[in-house]
Amino acid sequence: MKVVVALKRVIDYNVKIRVKTDGTGVETANVKMSMNPFDEIALEEAVRLKEAGIVSEVIAVTLGTQACQDVLRTALAVGADRVVLIETDVELQPLAVATCLKAFVQKEQPRLVLLGKQAIDDDANQTGQMLAALLGWAQATNAFKLEIAGDHATVTREIDGGLETLEASLPVIVTADLRLNTPRYATLPNIMKAKKKTIESLLPADLGVDPSPRLKTLLVSDPPVRKPGIVVNSVTELVEKLRNEARVI
Ligand code: AMP
Repeated sequence: MKVVVALKRVIDYNVKIRVKTDGTGVETANVKMSMNPFDEIALEEAVRLKEAGIVSEVIAVTLGTQACQDVLRTALAVGADRVVLIETDVELQPLAVATCLKAFVQKEQPRLVLLGKQAIDDDANQTGQMLAALLGWAQATNAFKLEIAGDHATVTREIDGGLETLEASLPVIVTADLRLNTPRYATLPNIMKAKKKTIESLLPADLGVDPSPRLKTLLVSDPPVRKPGIVVNSVTELVEKLRNEARVI
């Protein structure tokens, strides 16, 4: 069985985000970009399923500009069999991504689609859910554990106060949470081999999709600056401040 994994290229999680001075978005020029961390986990899970003999082919897909090729090369180095760039330079919103992924899934016919639970740039947490709805497939979000046996997937999710275990018939959409696994690093020989492999390319129009945004960003602004803390000289002073000055904000 085939598995499709959706990978988004985002600002690296170690980078301090800077808002553009005109408030139209965040600065991405000359900023380190990487694979969305939850997508690394989704990819690792797909590769492990292949290593376990449950999956026959891992197909990684990214929507975005030519620059996204670096993420796809990483996916090849980690163990994806095929990688596909759906190339567009329009601002991508979750519904557009889900609509393109739906058409891609219908073309490739996987039994499992893995996504990250959310992209760390816009924190939308919508694409997997929208894709499941558009395809009419079952979905299990925020997976902590995934088991595939025969025609069923069993997914454990961390919820408030415990774990929830769900069973779904394939095909299914699963979104990866932080504790699903620890992604491997790409080894240098595999990075070198990945450089020679092919990146397949499609346009949204090839899939019959118009990815134009439906929402307009009016303003992006920094969070309010917090007042600096103070150092007190004694426990007595601390208690006095807690009693007379501290308040809940
Ligand atoms: P979001 O709904 O934007 O938080 O994204 C959730 C997940 O959808 C991500 O973790 C990715 O797996 C997938 N995704 C979102 N945007 C893209 C994209 N441009 N290309 C490929 N996958 C994406």
